[in-house]
Amino acid sequence: MTSTPSPRALLEQLIALDTTSDSGNLPAVELLQPLLEEAGAQVHVLPRGDGKNANLVAVFPANAGDSAAAPAHDLSAAGPGLFTDPEDPSRRGVLLAGHLDCVPVTGQEWTTDPFTPTERDGRLYGRGTADMKSYLAIATALAPEIAAAKRTQPVVIAATWEEETTCNGARDLVGQLEELGIRPAVAFVGEPTSMRAVPAHKSMNVLHVDFRGIAAHSSLLPRGLNTIRYAAEFTEWFHTEIIDGFRADGPFDEAYPVAWSTGGVNRLDGGIAVNTVPMSTHLELEFRALPQVEVQPIVDRIASKVEEIDAAMKAAVPEDPADTTAAKNVGATLEVVSLLYGLDGEADGHAARAAQLLGADRSEEKVTYGTESGIYEHAGMAAVVVGPGDIGQAHGADEFVALEQLERCEDFLRNVIGAVSA
Ligand SMILES: [Zn+2]
Repeated sequence: MTSTPSPRALLEQLIALDTTSDSGNLPAVELLQPLLEEAGAQVHVLPRGDGKNANLVAVFPANAGDSAAAPAHDLSAAGPGLFTDPEDPSRRGVLLAGHLDCVPVTGQEWTTDPFTPTERDGRLYGRGTADMKSYLAIATALAPEIAAAKRTQPVVIAATWEEETTCNGARDLVGQLEELGIRPAVAFVGEPTSMRAVPAHKSMNVLHVDFRGIAAHSSLLPRGLNTIRYAAEFTEWFHTEIIDGFRADGPFDEAYPVAWSTGGVNRLDGGIAVNTVPMSTHLELEFRALPQVEVQPIVDRIASKVEEIDAAMKAAVPEDPADTTAAKNVGATLEVVSLLYGLDGEADGHAARAAQLLGADRSEEKVTYGTESGIYEHAGMAAVVVGPGDIGQAHGADEFVALEQLERCEDFLRNVIGAVSA
């Protein structure tokens, strides 16, 4: 039996593992799993099925009687309902959630090796220090203390795969938690917020459209079908009808850096040469909507515009096309790449208040980066983003977390343990 390493030592072990999105998160899962098991948690490793990724769920069930009747330890202001859903008492306990994948280091100029944790000037440098191995390292290192507590509420640690690309790990996780009968009331998602309780962020939605036309020598224009023209028509429509509409009609929330929903066609590839009618054009668009904006109706509008253009393209196929195979394939197709829910909390909402009572800073500010927390909110939990490190450090070269932030997170998670303790 090995003893659990300190938070700092475990963080350094996690950073040394390459869990960038292509590599998968499994090495990190395999590091944490035995530590959580040895601490006494009920541990579930839920493989994605690709041999490279798994969700990790560690449950410390309530072991000290009825949660609703139990007092909150040292948190008189919190009351016994800190981790109980007032509308659904079957939801109880707290989920400490995060992801174990990291963004790649490709093309970045690091001062020191990104997978060799290095301390300089009160900071720990390395890929994933801020986003977001620190939170999960600290939570796991405190597992023996969670296990030793007389818990009136369950504590669940969950680590997901592929947050940085699709958030599909978290989407799987909410179904897996339901299947396991794990229904936390509150989720603390440990993305870097400098230990502020960030209550809300916009949704983040990515769609691609492919336009298939007919290549021809540009001097023989009537025998081709130009896809850039249709892609441009779509682009103009999207910006005028959807994006300008967000700006004109709202909704608006001044707590965001940009108070309305935004978006754009941000990539467009088409054509091969100036003397060739472009046969294919691919475009990529995103929109980030305020969390109260329903995403599906917007996706539906985009889909019907693509259908309209698809029909127009098919109607425009020439009678003697330069390429008969391409002529049969003409059209436009929409691919919904990912729709990531916004998080729709307030600074005085349940999860944010709970985090503040446990030592997180209050934040009126809402943010524009996406997290998994909206997925947990949609699954019925009160969710808030609260974690060590600065989002400004995430994803770039020389990513770091301040050691002071690690201490604050450790204090915060100790307060969580105190709050569930009888
Ligand atoms: Zn992250």
